[in-house]
Amino acid sequence: MDRSKRTPVIAGNWKMNKSRTGTKLLIRELAPLVSNARCNVAVCVPFTDLDAAMDAARGSNIIVGAQNCHWADNGAFTGEVSASMLTETGISLCVVGHSERRQYFGETDETVNQRLKAVLGAGMACIVCVGETLDERVMDKTLGVLRRQVTAALKDIPAEEMNRVIIAYEPVWAIGTGKTATAQDAQEACKFIRFLIGELYDAKTAEAARIQYGGSMNAKNAAELLEQPDIDGGLIGGASLKAREFSAIVGAASK
Ligand code: PEP
Repeated sequence: MDRSKRTPVIAGNWKMNKSRTGTKLLIRELAPLVSNARCNVAVCVPFTDLDAAMDAARGSNIIVGAQNCHWADNGAFTGEVSASMLTETGISLCVVGHSERRQYFGETDETVNQRLKAVLGAGMACIVCVGETLDERVMDKTLGVLRRQVTAALKDIPAEEMNRVIIAYEPVWAIGTGKTATAQDAQEACKFIRFLIGELYDAKTAEAARIQYGGSMNAKNAAELLEQPDIDGGLIGGASLKAREFSAIVGAASK
């Protein structure tokens, strides 16, 4: 499969930003700007904004996603939200394993795998985040970290479900820092992730897998990153909070 057969995914990660009113305003501003996109467009919003986002996105090509969910279907997990609760709200996409969850909320490779299973089990698509820290990069451990994280995240995930899995390569040192990986470094990491998927599954699954880059992607650097042969879109934090900037990235992915 050549690269043009993979539909790029541009997903905004709004993190803990935007009120319900701000959510509606931003989605309404964004919708006409991305209506002709030739890629998938998603915004991943806080739990409390999901229904407001769904309302505002109705009739548009914007997919609304969540930023996390618990692996259990229900039970004594105060403060958590399950995958089936998300699908009940009409949500079809969820992020798991974001580095901020790994760093601040004790997310491990094993819980990322459990969450991924829950998301797929509920019928949703999933963006699974992986990436090395600055120390790991300096110590030349990037590929080892990616091998560990990708292998653990995909443990017991059948090949037939891989069409609902998107891997986001997000070097931790590039998230929210304004430091972007060079297009060559991002390409090398995404190519390696594709190689790993080939090892874990088969060549067909690897070629079909969608792999995003994330880490200070913006309207200026998006085109160069997105034209790399193994980069199939972006997971975007800061720049997704501005409609014109985010739509410019969607435009770059639509070329
Ligand atoms: C992210 O949070 O996934 C991210 C990539 O953030 P930023 O674009 O702000 O670096």
